Amino acid sequence: MKNAYHVLNKVFGYQDFRHQQADIIQALLNNEDAMVLMPTGGGKSLCYQIPAIIREGVGIVVSPLIALMQDQVDALTQLGLSAGYLNSNQTQESQREIEQQLINNEIDLLYITPERLLSNRMQSLLKQSSISLFAIDEAHCVSQWGHDFRKEYQQLNTLHQQFPGIPRIALTATADKRTRQEIIEQLDLHKAKTYLDSFDRPNIHYQISEQNSKAELLKFIQNSHQNEAGIIYCLSRKKVEEIANWLTEQGLQALPYHAGLHQQMREANQKRFLREDGIIIVATIAFGMGIDKPDVRFVAHLNLPKSIEAYYQETGRAGRDGLPADAWMAYGLKDLMMLKQMIQESDNEMQQRISHSKLDSLMALCETTSCRREHLLNYFDEATKSSCGNCDICISPPETWDATEACRKALSCIYRTEQRFGVGYLTDILLGKSNERILQNGHDKVTTYGIGKDISLNEWKSIYRQLIAMGYININFEQYGALTLTDKARPLLRGEVELKLRKQTKKAAKKSETKAKSALREIDEQLFEALRQCRYDLSKLESVPPYVIFHDKTLIEMSRKRPSTLEQMGHIAGIGEKKRDKFGKQFLDIIKQHKIHPWFKNDLSETINKTLELYLKEQNTGAVAEQRQLNLSTIYSHLSTAIKHDVIRLEDILEIEHGDITQIKHAMDLCAEGGQEGAKAVFEFLNGEIEYGIINCVRASVDTLI
Ligand code: ADP
Ligand code: ZN
Repeated sequence: MKNAYHVLNKVFGYQDFRHQQADIIQALLNNEDAMVLMPTGGGKSLCYQIPAIIREGVGIVVSPLIALMQDQVDALTQLGLSAGYLNSNQTQESQREIEQQLINNEIDLLYITPERLLSNRMQSLLKQSSISLFAIDEAHCVSQWGHDFRKEYQQLNTLHQQFPGIPRIALTATADKRTRQEIIEQLDLHKAKTYLDSFDRPNIHYQISEQNSKAELLKFIQNSHQNEAGIIYCLSRKKVEEIANWLTEQGLQALPYHAGLHQQMREANQKRFLREDGIIIVATIAFGMGIDKPDVRFVAHLNLPKSIEAYYQETGRAGRDGLPADAWMAYGLKDLMMLKQMIQESDNEMQQRISHSKLDSLMALCETTSCRREHLLNYFDEATKSSCGNCDICISPPETWDATEACRKALSCIYRTEQRFGVGYLTDILLGKSNERILQNGHDKVTTYGIGKDISLNEWKSIYRQLIAMGYININFEQYGALTLTDKARPLLRGEVELKLRKQTKKAAKKSETKAKSALREIDEQLFEALRQCRYDLSKLESVPPYVIFHDKTLIEMSRKRPSTLEQMGHIAGIGEKKRDKFGKQFLDIIKQHKIHPWFKNDLSETINKTLELYLKEQNTGAVAEQRQLNLSTIYSHLSTAIKHDVIRLEDILEIEHGDITQIKHAMDLCAEGGQEGAKAVFEFLNGEIEYGIINCVRASVDTLI
């Protein structure tokens, strides 16, 4: 394990292992098998990369994701490791080269597709090589129950028979129990210890709304994700094109991606997304498998996904780097109808039932009035705190209203018109519209005609949507989307139960702090942009995506800490020796060009730095308090913390008069002699004549930490 820590620090540039990484690595080093369940971005790769580096021989990594292999190999190469891949996208020549390296024991890691691994040629090559371990990535592909079934994966249990004694590690980010069980069965991992992590993605902010408009989407991107990378999912190709064009017209860099595009175009768009900063991909769900881009800052759904599993997987592509990211979804009644129709068109009854129940669960997540994260994790059988503080519901709890009466009207309207009509027609009746069709059917005579004028059209639609989502109403697609009542509707119709619904959200949800750069102080932003540009230039030079050079997280830390030597540079997370020596100097030069006032060379919080910044300008605590809309005492506490950490000196606060300082110090001495150390005693000793905050600053100057 000493070796493992050494590799972690020196090669990867990280200080400590996360969660169970150390235990997993230890197991593999001990020749044990492991089954690893960790969410996306949890840090699965280190679990097999480090043992593969330490153990004799090559680590074989099985993965179905061809698109990813190049990136992974590039990333390892940049770390100074030797890695290669074998897949069908490769020239004969480079295949032979890798095979030779394999036999010569010259590579640490080999990425390979399952079909290639199982080929006779490969099996015999492997017999001649020295193998350190087998890593089976995306292990849920063995499961027929799961969503990415690959039949070759089921043959991977032969590895165990062919190469006994070589440790195997299976990894997946798929949470559900049934899939897990199948992985163990199919890969014969009964003896392996299972390492199960929480599936929570705490850095993802969840937000779901029923306002399905392009304008909302644009507002969301402009407010929170200007010039940042994101994925927008739509259900149809047509919508993909429409949204991509529209966003482009609005001045954003948005590219379409769907199966109908020419392959060349698809590849080019994907490549730009990976290699350039701030590109938005508008895609059908086909996009994203095998996208390992760590700095996707938002995933937006403009249509409902099919299930919670799909929602979790798709939103999971945001924020792999652990920095704040957004999962944003907008849906409407139309989506729900469309999905229901698609399900009913399938002729496999069993499949229909499963799909319906999955959609119902998703709707429950959409319509919930309690924490989204709780709902999501409970769905995957994970217990949680009841409020996460990082979802739309926790941040602005929705208002509910007693909708019993309105729902009775809505249901009754269906009943009175013999369950033969769709939402549009029903709302027309409730609102008392007189169109030809209504008159012809004589529906201006039914008792529900015009009884809903006190409620707007949009609200009626929302009521119907929620009633469908909650199972009070069915949709009959053979009858052109006519709404019918379910058994559950009866007690409600008869007024035996009450029902609370969410209010239509008109107010914009409170803005959350989901900016990745919020970890960055304002004063460091310019430097950050310059470092980003440098990274971009280097990435072009090296022909790799920018994040293969350094992650945003690394650049943010660099901007804050502003190292001035290569050695200091090496202490930043994500900078191992190789990268430090290769790129360090160029980044140091940029930091040097960005001079900064000595006050801001600190590790204090963003809010304290804001206070310092304003104080430097205003030289007046009152003015700072006013501008920051904080209490004066808070401002003083920021200043005293800065004094305590030797970031500023007492003399820097010009308002504190020399006479006061002398008085306070004197009082402090006398109080201390009387055994009273606290600021309160000093304050009282001085008869409350000197501001509490000032006393605290003086006290801080006496016991600075440095
Ligand atoms: P996964 O494969 O589980 O989605 P990755 O292996 O790609 O996740 O890791 C996600 C991110 O976390 C990467 O940027 C990786 O470098 C980083 N990471 C992994 N382990 C650590 C660690 N112990 N300390 C700091 N960063 C880590
Ligand atoms: Zn929450």
